[in-house]
Order: sequence, then structure tokens, then C-alpha cells
Amino acid sequence: MATKKSRNTSASKSRSKKPAENLSLLANVNAQFDQAAQHIKLPQGLVDQIKVCNNVYFIQFPVKIGKGYRFFYGWRAEHSHHKKPLKGGIRYSSKVSQEEVMALAALMTYKCAIVNVPFGGSKGGVCVRPRDMKVEELERITRRYTAELISKQFIGPGINVPAPDYGTGEREMAWIADTYDRFNPAGVDNMACVTGKPVAQGGIRGRAAATGRGVVYGLREMFRHKRDVQDVGLSCGLGGKRISIQGFGNVGYHAARILQLEDDAKIVSVGEWDGTVHNPDGIDVAALFAYRKRHGGVQGFPGGTVSDNGKDCLEAACDVLIPAALENQVARANMKKVKARVIAEAANGPLTEEADAYLSGKGVKIIPDVYLNAGGVTVSYFEWNKNLSHMRPGRLQKRLDEAKAEAFLAATEALVGKKVPDNVRRILLRGADEEDLVNSGLEETMITAYNEIRDIFNRKKAIADLRTAAYALAIEKVGQSYLDMGIFP
Ligand code: GLU
Repeated sequence: MATKKSRNTSASKSRSKKPAENLSLLANVNAQFDQAAQHIKLPQGLVDQIKVCNNVYFIQFPVKIGKGYRFFYGWRAEHSHHKKPLKGGIRYSSKVSQEEVMALAALMTYKCAIVNVPFGGSKGGVCVRPRDMKVEELERITRRYTAELISKQFIGPGINVPAPDYGTGEREMAWIADTYDRFNPAGVDNMACVTGKPVAQGGIRGRAAATGRGVVYGLREMFRHKRDVQDVGLSCGLGGKRISIQGFGNVGYHAARILQLEDDAKIVSVGEWDGTVHNPDGIDVAALFAYRKRHGGVQGFPGGTVSDNGKDCLEAACDVLIPAALENQVARANMKKVKARVIAEAANGPLTEEADAYLSGKGVKIIPDVYLNAGGVTVSYFEWNKNLSHMRPGRLQKRLDEAKAEAFLAATEALVGKKVPDNVRRILLRGADEEDLVNSGLEETMITAYNEIRDIFNRKKAIADLRTAAYALAIEKVGQSYLDMGIFP
């Protein structure tokens, strides 16, 4: 007791008290930007221009709720116009703020540059908790927010193209597309005003799984490079690797499913809002998905032990940790308990600045958000192209490819005098459909970008981690755009 008392004196308190941890995503993104900018030769004024957020539109609007009215507010931030249109999701959350939207818009600019998607960065948000609203109320909010964006030219196929983000999905994107279409009845390209739409409303197959699938492609590429995984004491290939995932939503679920099915990785823990499922022998991802759908959470899932803290997964014994939920999940309070050797940032900003520095300093390999979760926007780019071409990818050549493969196989079999087994024949003769092409384009994008980041990392000895390398790559590319096009006037 005595020691406790003496430790509580204000003098010793001020000596021992650390300053509060920085939890501002904007400060974090800007600090990462500044660190990377030191390694890139560009005029300082240009570096400053790349960093700042160009416009932010703040909107307050009334919506009829029940018998009364309620005010809602939201934003659309436009970070960079070095490429057009601008691109980025719309977030529905009671915690969304202008600062957060600006930080996420900046991340979009860097993300697009890293994966060679020719868009500037943007992000929107509406301060609303979807769970508290009826579907028709959400529809009214979405349509009114869209109308506000239209009136100030903050949306349009060649201007600014929203997409889903936290709290929004296909349903909201369909409402946005329909609202835009009603305001522009003669517009032939209206469908390209938003991506992440349902397939029947101009969406593209593979978009829903794209962010999770992109995370897997990025991880796979890292695990193909002996040097990269040896650094953290692991072997090549994801087969048998122990994976812990935070978040079983659109990103976490698809990443877990693909890792288990296609890579034979072991999903040893999954954290959700109501608890963490642990199973050192591997969780059956499909069974957990079905269970959560039926029960709304993971409590009571029979395929593992379930603790009641959804953040336990961050401290699980594993090789790879995939935080696929929200910002600031690994922070001062839990960073020392992380056991993973690789952290794959599927969410935006899942590590605080302090946790990032601590874990990198301990030799943990962090594959940064600004690269790793770019699968969503990459496939959005494919969807936008599909909408502008007014044709499904693969429609023109699928049957031709199949006919050519058939003729080639028949000729080969005749020459050799042997038949190819049926299971191989099926693969050889199948022409690529929309989803095959989307996944192939996504894989190519993620592999190329990983190697561009890796190349900068290996070339510039002063760059200490992949995040700094990724930001440096983005700054270099955006800077080059400005140098090439000049500044108006
Ligand atoms: N909201 C997603 C992201 O943060 C997707 C953005 C898009 O497809 O435009 O990357």
C-alpha cells in the first residue's frame, strides 16, 4: 500500500507518465509521408502539394425519419487531382470525422499510385450508425447525400467515383447509381459514377472478394521470396502457416476463406466484435461463416474455444497476423504481446505509430495497408472500365479461346496418339470468364506492386521498412505526374 501511495504523488506521476499515444490517422499518415519523402528527390513545394488534401466538402442535410426530421452530416474529401477521376469509398459510422476522411483520402491517392490505378484519392463519410436505422431511412440518407455531391460536382464518372467502405456495401452503391442516373437522364456512362455495385446493376464479378483476395495475393508474393521470409525466420509458401485474423467481415472472411482453400494455410484464430475463436489445428472457415450468419456472432461456435475478447486474436500464437477491422487496433497497450512475425495490414491504419515503430524495431515484417488492401480499388478500376466499355470482360473472346484450345488439343492428341485425362481437359478448354479475368488482373497488379516496393526497399539502403518504401514509391509516381503535366496556370 505504501509504495502505491508514494507512486501516486504528482511529482513521480509527471516523471513516469508517457505522453498520450497519437491516435490520429491523419497525423500518422502525414508522419509516414514525411519520413518517406526524405528519400525522394523532388522540389519541396511539390512534396507539400502532394501531401495536402485539395478540397473537403462538408454537408449537413435533413432527412425525414418517422414523423419528424433529423439532421445528418457528412463529407467528401478530395485529396489529389493529379489523375482523374478521384476514387475512394464512403464510410457510414457514428465515429467518422473530417480528419479521418482526409487521412483516408490521402491513403487512397498513395494506394492508387502504388498499384498503378490511374485515379486521384478521395473519401467520403456520413455520421450515422447503420444498425440504428431502418433500410428505407438509410436509402433516404444515401440518396440525399448523393444529391448533395451531384450539386457540387463531387461525383461523376469523370470527376469522382465513390465505392463501398466501412458501413456501406452493394446496396448503398446501387442507390447512389440510381440517384445519379435520375439527375442525368441523358448520360450514357452514368453507371461508372460509382463502383462496388451489385452485378445486376453494373457491378463486376469478384469485386466483393477483391480486398481479401488482394491481401492473399500480396502475402503469397512475399512468401515466394526466400529472402523476405527468411528475415523473420519463416520458410517460403503459405501452406501450413498459422494465421490469426481480426475481423470476419468482407475483407477478413474472404482472406481467411481463400488462404484456407487455395493456400492450405491454418486459420488458428478469428476475432469478431463479441469474441475470438481459437483452434490451433485450424478453424473451419466455412463453418464459422455459416455459424456467425445464423447467430450474429462467434460466441458458442463449436469448432474451437471462444474467448470473450475480440482483440485476443491480436495476441495469438501465429506466424501471420491479419488485422482486417478498423484503425488503431495494435497500440501501446497490446503491442508487446503480439507474437506474429508478419503483420498483413488488411485494414486501414490498424497499427498506431508507436506500435508500428516498436514492432518494426523488433524485426516484425509489416506489409503496409497502403499497398496490401488496394485490391478493392484495383477491381473498382476494372468495374469502372467495364461500365465505360458497356461490355462484360471476356464476352468477345471466351468462345474463340475455347475453340482454339479445342483444336490445338485435338491436333496434339492426334499427333501423340494419346488422350488427355478429363480433369486436365476441362481446365485446358475453359475460356476465361469475367471473374477469372478480374482475379488474374488483380493478381498481376498485386505482384507487380509488391516487387516495385521491394525494389525500392532493396535499392535505397536508408529505407528501413516496407511502409516507407511503399510511400516513397507513391510520392515518386505522383511527383512524376505533376512534373510531366505541369501546374496550371
Ligand atoms: N473503400 C475501399 C478502399 O479503401 C475501396 C475504394 C474504391 O474501390 O474506390 O480501398
